[in-house]
Amino acid sequence: MQPATEILTPDANGIARAADLLRAGKLVAFPTETVYGLGGIATRPDAVASIYAAKGRPSFNPLIAHVADLDTARRIAHFSDMAEALAAAFWPGPMTLVLPLREGHGLAPGVTAGLETVALRIPAAPVAQRVLERVGQPVAAPSANPSGRISPTRAEHVIAGLSGRIAAVLDGGACPVGVESTIVATDPAPRILRAGGLSAEAIGAALGLDLAAGPVIEDSTPTAPGQLTSHYAPSKPVRLNATAALDGEVWLGFGPVAEGQHTLSQSRDLAEAAANLFDMLHSLDDGPHTGIAVAPIPDTGLGAAINDRLQRAAAPRPRGGTPEAG
Ligand code: AMP
Ligand code: MG
Repeated sequence: MQPATEILTPDANGIARAADLLRAGKLVAFPTETVYGLGGIATRPDAVASIYAAKGRPSFNPLIAHVADLDTARRIAHFSDMAEALAAAFWPGPMTLVLPLREGHGLAPGVTAGLETVALRIPAAPVAQRVLERVGQPVAAPSANPSGRISPTRAEHVIAGLSGRIAAVLDGGACPVGVESTIVATDPAPRILRAGGLSAEAIGAALGLDLAAGPVIEDSTPTAPGQLTSHYAPSKPVRLNATAALDGEVWLGFGPVAEGQHTLSQSRDLAEAAANLFDMLHSLDDGPHTGIAVAPIPDTGLGAAINDRLQRAAAPRPRGGTPEAG
């Protein structure tokens, strides 16, 4: 059995302890600006295997490799001109690039689930940056939640889902963006594989293209991060585009609500709603209600990521009630 999960403060000692554990092949959850990541050294097959095991993640669902800087990223993958432009515009930040692997990349095969491409990101959160610098190696880090469940935006969420299954969590408070990174592939043409914390409008503007007009590609092979199947799921049913709560449901609004009611953002601010989304789903899921009724959310900007997560949270669950992917 694993020893109890250590809760680390993100000061110099905590960062050093986290880096030591990671270098020893252990798993450490840490805050990024998007959600808490479940880190394991990306070059060690044993560490990567234990990420899949701790999350109960299907082995065909590849991980994002997090790196401290662009030079490290360029040693792992080939950057086209477009990839360079996106990296210059948005790294460090909530954007993941899917790029062709370079020969001698050094990643454990489990990181890419055997693909010839790799998902790379330089996160902006200072705690994540310091961990990566101190470790000095790429760190694979999917969201630090059991596969298919609501992603964690606080250390408490990580503990609730993975306590005893990981070595430590660095408690850096709430994640400011609150939804996962936007995943972008650049070859052969630019496309968004997963809506996330950087809007399609912003990415399109940087490239001089209208990416927001195109559909988000629900890539069928071979990545399928629970795409359109149940994912990000509370244990209670979620009902979308609701106008009011039905008997037994709790209301999750968007915009002003009466005192004592819950809203993703009083001021209809989509960035604030994204930052609150998973935290509110976690806490409403723990409450006494039988279901969660959610107000309509505009589908522009970060609203695309919010609606994507809500649709998966509301998707029919596979038999047995456990969502599928990780
Ligand atoms: P997570 O780390 O849980 O946010 O999930 C990372 C997601 O990145 C996975 O679900 C994959 O769909 C996607 N991903 C990772 N590697 C690749 C890749 N090589 N090609 C396409 N998508 C990828
Ligand atoms: Mg995830």
